Amino acid sequence: MTAGVPHPPARAAAQPGRRWPDRRAAALHYAARGWQVFVLGRTKRPVANCEPCAGAGPDHDREACPCLTCHGFYAATVDPERIAAMLTAVPEGLLAIRTGAVSGLAIIDIDPRNGGRLDRTLMNPTATVATPGGGWHLYYAHPGRSLPGKLPGRIGVDIKTDGGLVVAPPSTPAGAARGYRWTSQPRPVEEMAPRLLDACQTRSGAPVPAATGTAKTSPTGLVGGGAISKPDALLAATLAAVDRAPQGRRRVTLYGAARGLARMVAADALNTLDAVDALTAVGARNQQTPRDIRGAIKGGFEAEGLPSPV
Ligand SMILES: [Zn+2]
Ligand SMILES: [Zn+2]
Repeated sequence: MTAGVPHPPARAAAQPGRRWPDRRAAALHYAARGWQVFVLGRTKRPVANCEPCAGAGPDHDREACPCLTCHGFYAATVDPERIAAMLTAVPEGLLAIRTGAVSGLAIIDIDPRNGGRLDRTLMNPTATVATPGGGWHLYYAHPGRSLPGKLPGRIGVDIKTDGGLVVAPPSTPAGAARGYRWTSQPRPVEEMAPRLLDACQTRSGAPVPAATGTAKTSPTGLVGGGAISKPDALLAATLAAVDRAPQGRRRVTLYGAARGLARMVAADALNTLDAVDALTAVGARNQQTPRDIRGAIKGGFEAEGLPSPV
């Protein structure tokens, strides 16, 4: 970084329309970079689902649904024709980006209204958006692994990654005095610095100790700092606990298992889809309804600070 260039500038220049004159130009620019875009309502709420989708059960495949704007970020696309049609269908809609591996983005979301602050010693300079609430979205390249929904140990700092979204420039939500805007200092989307990646993956914000053969392993398979030495054994033990649970305890045990697997996901010992598959299978085996299984997964992941994968 050139000395003297603040990151981000102490005051982001308000430049509505300077780099992209309208939503459509911005949306096409993002899509050309491989960022999946969609629209939200003016209040940041998802656009209402069509009637068939609104009435569809839990088995409805939101990812494969062909509707233009149903199911929030599941409608996101890089197809210019679909994008143009979406913008026409929701003329007042806010432009949004689906975050995560699908777009190659993991975005650090700093909200000063919740106590968040930019830490220049931790967060390396990268493409940055100033938000209407006086905060920042730091656009980083997705690291290719799951990250928690919040930066551990930091108040008011979220991580928008798989299963997430951000409102993007040049959107101005209803009631906001100003919109989302790129800071006046253009920067490329950078990789997260190793120190930042470490901080993302550690519950305490301290570096994760390597899980080596000499590491002291607890009976749960967890070693100090949250690293997991024997993920297969831990996974099997967690699922077996659900199978063993007496009838009246199955629901709460499934929730506990969901939290356990969410912690494994946060520690990068298990991927999210495998966790969902395993929990769904063990729940079904123990006569839990699809609704209860989804509830357990959602509750368990969110309790561990991760976005719900269902
Ligand atoms: Zn629909
Ligand atoms: Zn649908």
